[in-house]
Amino acid sequence: METVSGARIAVAGAGVFGLATALALTRAGLPVTVFDPAAPGDNASGVAAGMLAPASEAVFDEASAPHLALLRRARDLWPAFVEELDVEILQDGVRIEGEAGWLCGIGARRQALGLPDDREADGSLILAEDWRLDALKALATFRTAASRLGTRFEAVSITSFENGALTLSDGRVERFDALVLATGAAARDGALAPETAVLAPIKGQILRLDRGPATGLVVRGAGVYLCPGAPMVVGATMEFGQDDRSPEPAKTAPLLRAAEALRPDLETATATIQVGVRASTADGLPLVGWSVRPGVMLAVGARRNGWLLAPLVAGLVAAYLTNKDPGPDAARLNARRFDKEPEA
Ligand SMILES: Cc1cc2nc3c(=O)[nH]c(=O)nc-3n(C[C@H](O)[C@H](O)[C@H](O)COP(=O)(O)OP(=O)(O)OC[C@H]3O[C@@H](n4cnc5c(N)ncnc54)[C@H](O)[C@@H]3O)c2cc1C
Repeated sequence: METVSGARIAVAGAGVFGLATALALTRAGLPVTVFDPAAPGDNASGVAAGMLAPASEAVFDEASAPHLALLRRARDLWPAFVEELDVEILQDGVRIEGEAGWLCGIGARRQALGLPDDREADGSLILAEDWRLDALKALATFRTAASRLGTRFEAVSITSFENGALTLSDGRVERFDALVLATGAAARDGALAPETAVLAPIKGQILRLDRGPATGLVVRGAGVYLCPGAPMVVGATMEFGQDDRSPEPAKTAPLLRAAEALRPDLETATATIQVGVRASTADGLPLVGWSVRPGVMLAVGARRNGWLLAPLVAGLVAAYLTNKDPGPDAARLNARRFDKEPEA
């Protein structure tokens, strides 16, 4: 499907994929409306730790390891994407700490991935190339920037899109040329686009602590990461197949114990649990591109790397909708790569 210049675009979802896409599309001169019934930031994007961390993800997440080069390309798009925005990208890197045997195994994984053998005198390993940002702040900045460029926001959900008619949860019907589905883990029944049926949920519980360092390197240990900030963030659970957002102290207790093992002074900290649900495909990469359903473009399935991948995904969507070359990563993210029938 091709869109014409000046096409009206609806975006379902105001998470990082939806907002980054809205920004990219309004920058390209298209009129955009973002629909999302949730309060700003009340989604996976808002609870995320904000790490833009290709190296750590490749080392610690088996599903991300084959995609290291693509994840690095995605990270490298960030500075230009936020050039005129008030989004600070911290480029401090990551320190991996733990007992010697465990560190040895991590060091071997790092070596197998071809990552540099940086380490400190105490034996901790350094991944200097990983970045991060304040996710909630960046989300608000994206929303304001898109709004200033003319993006309209509506606090309702999208229930269907047929022949250019977009039906909203309040019963209204509006006409659009295309719908970008950036609905995260929510729309997995295939109703808005059949390709979403391949998505699986992964519940993530994360802790925000009332104390801990506000600045410095991210620290990764066995089963935990600690992101300095105000508040400091300790994450995160990976609960495959779970899509509820209820906080469960029993599930986050091991995170807290692992954090205290690295930083005993955190023992007296008060932790607040936040919960988000990631959407994942079988190969760990999102679905980006045209659906088999006419007029529907997918930008879903970010797994653990929605923040890292957002400028790449937004750029692909903007390229498709303005009939430009989507570039070298388009094929690997093809929204229809899991279709049972080969694409016609
Ligand atoms: C605990 C945790 C920590 C994480 N840490 C990181 C990290 O450090 N770095 C990183 O890169 N990634 C991280 N992630 C992953 C990242 O948060 C997700 O991949 C990313 O936020 C997904 O963004 P999204 O826009 O696709 O979905 P979401 O942020 O979930 O947004 C989807 C939006 O769509 C809306 N919606 C749903 N259905 C409809 C509908 N029918 N109509 C309109 N709107 C609809 C929802 O209300 C929601 O607001 C983390 C995730 C979790 C859970």
